[in-house]
Amino acid sequence: MMTTNSEIGQVLQKLIEGNKRFSLSKQSHPNQNKERRQELAKGQKPFAVIVGCSDSRIPPEIIFDQGLGDLFVIRVAGNIVDDVALGSIEYAVAHLGTQLIVVLGHSKCGAVTATVQGGAVHGHVESIVQAIKPAIDKAKDLPGNLTDNTIKANARLVASQIQSSQPILAELVRLDKIAVVSAYYDIENGEVHIL
Ligand SMILES: [Zn+2]
Repeated sequence: MMTTNSEIGQVLQKLIEGNKRFSLSKQSHPNQNKERRQELAKGQKPFAVIVGCSDSRIPPEIIFDQGLGDLFVIRVAGNIVDDVALGSIEYAVAHLGTQLIVVLGHSKCGAVTATVQGGAVHGHVESIVQAIKPAIDKAKDLPGNLTDNTIKANARLVASQIQSSQPILAELVRLDKIAVVSAYYDIENGEVHIL
């Protein structure tokens, strides 16, 4: 990760440890009680933004073993960002003090698979395919499985899109006040790996 900010390193560690508990079926299910709800009624301070896929198999609070008020989540098919998503991230970092943003791709992503297969798509799904397409160019000459490589390339590209987003996020990255990482979730073994 391109940061020397130790606070950000600690929150990343917190996510990694939560995912470890989840993948080993040793969850602690933190922050899901009445006390936490009441505490949060005064205000939220989520420690990470997760840009994830809408896929029903990847609910961030479950796979990172976190609770209420912990994660600020943006989920759309293919874990891509548009202006609305970037505005949501800006809100989290500027108003809630969140410092870490994780873009989370995952194995067997239907949105990426459809983009790689290149068949006809209908309606607004076309917008998703167009957003994912640049990742195929990054992945097409790599050894291994094209779809899996595209899933990882897409997560990396979305992370760099967030990092270079003007006028707010790029400046905060430059000042090392926030960091953006890309990661990959394996839907079979439940493990998240930082890319
Ligand atoms: Zn997906």
